[in-house]
Parts: sequence; C-alpha cells; structure tokens
Amino acid sequence: MKFLPIWIGLFMFCASPIHAQELNPNVFALLNLDAPGLEQVKESHRAGKDREAAENLLEYYRNRTHVHFPDISDLTQVTISSKEQQWADDALEHTFFSHEGYQPSFNYGKDIDWRYWPVRDNELRWQLHRHKWFGAMGQAYCVSGDEKYAKEWVFQYMDWIKKNPLVKIDPEKYELTDDMKIKDDAENSRFAWRPLETSHRLQDQIRQFLYFVHSPHFTPEFLTEFLVNYHKHAEHILHNYSKQGNHLLFEAQRMFFAGTFFPEFKEAADWRKSGIDILNREIDIQVYPDGGQFELDPHYHLASIEIFCKALEMADANGLRNEFPQHYTDMIEKMIMFYINICFPDYTNPCFSDAKITGKNGIIRNLRKWSAIFPDNQYIKYFATDGKKGKLPEYLSQAFKESGFFVFRNAWQDPATVMIVKAGPEGEWHCQPDNGTFELWINGKNFFPDSGSYIYGGDDEVMAWRNWFRQTRVHNTLTLGNENITTTDSKTLLWEGTGDLQKLVTENQSYENLKHRRSVFFIENKFFVIVDEAIGNALGDVNLHFELCEGPVKIDSVRHTLTTENDGNTQIFMQCFGSHPLHLRQEEGWYSTAYRKKEERPAVAFDIEKTNAAPVRYITVIYPVQENSTPKISCKFNSAAFSDQGMDVDIKIDKKRYRLRYELH
Ligand code: MG
Repeated sequence: MKFLPIWIGLFMFCASPIHAQELNPNVFALLNLDAPGLEQVKESHRAGKDREAAENLLEYYRNRTHVHFPDISDLTQVTISSKEQQWADDALEHTFFSHEGYQPSFNYGKDIDWRYWPVRDNELRWQLHRHKWFGAMGQAYCVSGDEKYAKEWVFQYMDWIKKNPLVKIDPEKYELTDDMKIKDDAENSRFAWRPLETSHRLQDQIRQFLYFVHSPHFTPEFLTEFLVNYHKHAEHILHNYSKQGNHLLFEAQRMFFAGTFFPEFKEAADWRKSGIDILNREIDIQVYPDGGQFELDPHYHLASIEIFCKALEMADANGLRNEFPQHYTDMIEKMIMFYINICFPDYTNPCFSDAKITGKNGIIRNLRKWSAIFPDNQYIKYFATDGKKGKLPEYLSQAFKESGFFVFRNAWQDPATVMIVKAGPEGEWHCQPDNGTFELWINGKNFFPDSGSYIYGGDDEVMAWRNWFRQTRVHNTLTLGNENITTTDSKTLLWEGTGDLQKLVTENQSYENLKHRRSVFFIENKFFVIVDEAIGNALGDVNLHFELCEGPVKIDSVRHTLTTENDGNTQIFMQCFGSHPLHLRQEEGWYSTAYRKKEERPAVAFDIEKTNAAPVRYITVIYPVQENSTPKISCKFNSAAFSDQGMDVDIKIDKKRYRLRYELH
C-alpha cells in the first residue's frame, strides 16, 4: 500500500488519537478456532487472554493469503475518481452520498442522525444504509494513506451500530407497546435492516475490510466489533431472505461472498451453501429459457447478469467453480445475448418498466468482464471491444417469445433501424402495464423513447409521480378510456423475423371486454406499419397513444399526420388511419432515463368512439424521411379484410402498393 512519508503519518497519528473500542468477546464463540492459522487465537482465548487473542486474530487477517476477492488483489493499484473523492471528503463532514437522484447530498449532522429523512422517498432512506461513501473513504485512504479517512470510517461504522439496533416487532402490533424508543427502533429497522440493504453492507464491508485492515485505527478491539456485526448481518439475511425477485438474487450472491470471504465463521459453509443453492435455483425461476429476466425490465436484467457473474468471479478466485453447473453459465450467456439484442447501436437499452440508461462506457465495462468469463463467445467479444475483435451476430431481427421482447433490426451499427417491442407475460414488481409498447431507433436517434419510471416509492407526492410514469396511456400502445390495462399477458400469434416483410402479431386481453391485437410489419427493412385492433363488447373511447422524442413536431389533426422536426437528417413521418372517425388529441408527455430526471416531449392519442361490439381498428404508418420529403400514403378500411384468423390489407405509399397479409394457423 502506498503510504505517506512516515513523519507525516506519525504527525497525523498523534494529532488524531485513536478512540479506544471495547473488545467484544462474543466474537470467539462465532469463529471456528480450530481453523488453520487460528491456533494462537485459540490458545490465547483459552488462557483467558482475549485482548491477546484479538491481537492474534488481527495479525492473522492482516497476513491471510488463502482467500481472494476478485476486484482487489493489490492495494497499490486502488484508484479513485473525482466523484468518489468528493463522496469521501463530504463524508468527513457527515454529508453522505446516498442517492444519485438527490444531489447535492444531505448533511446528517455533527451527531449523526441516521433517521433523518429529508425527502419522503423510501429509496433515499433505504440507500442511506448502504453506506456507499464508506467504499470511497477506503479508496481515498489507500490512495493517500491519510489516516483521517480510516479514523472517521471506524467512528461512523461504530456510530451506525449504536444507533441502528435490529428490532423485530410486527408493525401491526406497535400499538401494544408504549415504549416509543422501541417503536422508533422497529420503524427504523424496516429501513436500516431491510435484507437488501443488509446485503449491500455485507458485500461492501469486505471491500472496506481490505482497504482499512492495515490501519492503526483498525484495532484488535474494532476487529471484534466488526466481525460480530458482520456475523449478525449474514445471520439476519439467512433467516430473512426476500421472497423472490432481484432482491433475493442480490442477497444470495452476497451471502455466497460472505461465506467465501470469511470462512472462519462457524456458519460460513451454511452461508455459502444458501447463496449457491438460491442462485442455482433462481436462475431457472427468474430467467426465461430465452434469456430474459422475469422483471421484464432491461435494467434489472443487466443487474441480474451482474449478480450471476459476480458469483462466478468469486467462485473462480477461490477455486469454487464446481459449485455452479454448466447450466448456470449457459443461462448467463443467454442473458448476455438477450441484452445485446435489445440494445441500440449506441449501447443504450429501452427504458421499459423501471429501466434507466447506463452509458456506453459503463456497459462496455460490464461486457469486458462478461467476455472474460465467456472468451469463446465472439459476439460478446465484439461488443466488449467496441468492434475491434470478435464478430457480429449473423442474424438481425430476433424474437424472445417467452419474455415477450421482439427486435426488428436492419443493422447492428448506424445507420440502423431497430424497433424493440415489449409484449409478454405479467412481469414482476418493476414491470409496467405497457403491453404492446415499443421503442424505435433510426439512424442514431431514439424517436419513441419509453416514458421510463422517474422514481420508485414513498409518500403520496412521490407515488403520484411514480404512478404517472407507470400508466399504460404514457406508452406507445392502446387503452380504453385512457385507463391502465387490467391484464398483462400477451400471446404471440405470429413472428416472422426475416425478409422484406417481417411480421409480429401479438394479442393481449387488456380489459375484461376488450382485447388488443397488434400487428407490426417491418417493410423492406425500412419502415413500419402497425395495425391495432380493439376487439370486444366494451364501449367508450379507444385511444391509441404515441410518445415521441423531445423536440418540435408538426401535427396535422385533419390528415392525422405527425412529422418530427429535429436536428439531424432523418425525420419520422407518421400517419394514422381509423376504421371509424379519428380524433387526434395532444397529451402530456414526459420521459425519464435516470432517477428523478425527466424531460418534456410531445405525445398524442388517436381516439375512436366505440359505440357497439364491432371492432375498432387503426393502421399507422411510421416512415423515416429525409428533410422536406413527405410520402403520400393511402389505405382503405375493408372490414372483410380482417378476421380472427388473419388480415389482408393494402396500403399505398407514393406509387408503391404493399399487401399486408397473414393467416394464423
Ligand atoms: Mg414505461
């Protein structure tokens, strides 16, 4: 480790005395003192010399070489970004980086108030307890050798333990106790000890341990407190795993880490096994055979790949790869290929469900790690090296039928046209009621970005925003009376993903009395025709929504056309035709690609009043044009052209006729 000159270190050491910690003797009962290397610890403890035993234990950990952590193999190679340096320095003043969406960070007081909740967004309070700045303090310490970071980290670590007791009482029974302190502690435990947050700390404290263990502030007494606290974390998760979803995955991977990194704990093997068992089980529950993760959220899909890969990296570093069968790695490879397929040429993903955008550099960093795990996969290599090595997939369009993601693609790199349609089963918590929606990328621009999610959960004000972005009506799909769809379970009726007339037919019983059938045609690898049918007895206004990219748009409400007027050579010309009189209505439009960041954008709906049981139909042409060129489009509605089993429609664009036809078998 790179330290400052010794006289500076000594000066700081003297100027900032180390606060004595109490030795926690409970640690010795938690450890397997028969483990190799702990002989002296055992001997001292048996002789009643716990202080000496703790010293021996610290010496053991400072010199231990048989356990490896993949990301940190050499402390002299630790680096810190300017942002992380800022988090570390702010933390010295108790200004804690909790959440990217709440910047600048809040100050938690000289006497730290771990229950301070300045904005009633649950995420802000949960994520405070992830202690993200602790890692940055560790990096700052390694890079500078300045003991102030170690001293403050030890102080905050202990302060957190003191002020955040784990109190388990049923919130329903709060009224049974008059003890306000217990009530407060129980309420606080919901945030501080939520298993997900606990697992964050479980994982990150390995890193912190490595960064600080050589510091004089990491005393034998502190080590005993650290290990007892760490054990409490792992045991809490072991008995309180989240029931399902990405939380469970995170917790399992981190339990595997805990059991692998601290094998000296008596329960370490149980922690490892629980993590391994859950990961091996959940990879088949949470991942569809096509490689899509069941939240149906590209961002959580990405996070799940990371979780599964991290476990593999830890296993590899410590000779435990045999714990994960070939099937496990095969599934991860499918997940990576799924992700590559649903990305646009600039490495961004659609913001379906609660997804956000990770920048190209971040995705490439991930891909490099994945490519190291799958060195034979030339496609992953291609994207990991930004095209310098490996090769592109031989195919273009691709369907992921179990997950309900469909990709129309004419190229992997710009100039490219890529439409991603989401029309699958009911996803988990992060999934939105958006079936049939799509994003469309043409020549370097996303012309129909999803509304995104903006925010997760909290008080009424926070929830109002969350609910706005979740609405079906703010997606590129069809609603009845602008209401959210009540069923999310699309069926794929047809997929043909090659040739000059590619087709997707998907159907969702969106409302009790109204079924939405959407047929998407990708024609000549250039433009799209979308046929929407609202079928059923429901009466009322049917609405077909389109959410466009930011920037001006020319709207003709008589001809029902829209033309984007962005910077850039390519524009979108859209025209909608109805089986019944159409009313074009402008709507409120926003989209969000990062937490608590949103941009206004144009949005429209084409309304048709449905007055009887006959289906209502729309034909929408989405046609890329160069500046100042407008296609002349016509199409006639002939109800005989439609049936339950198919359709047969002609449209004419300029002078060319296109016959859009399919039969279901
Ligand atoms: Mg959405």
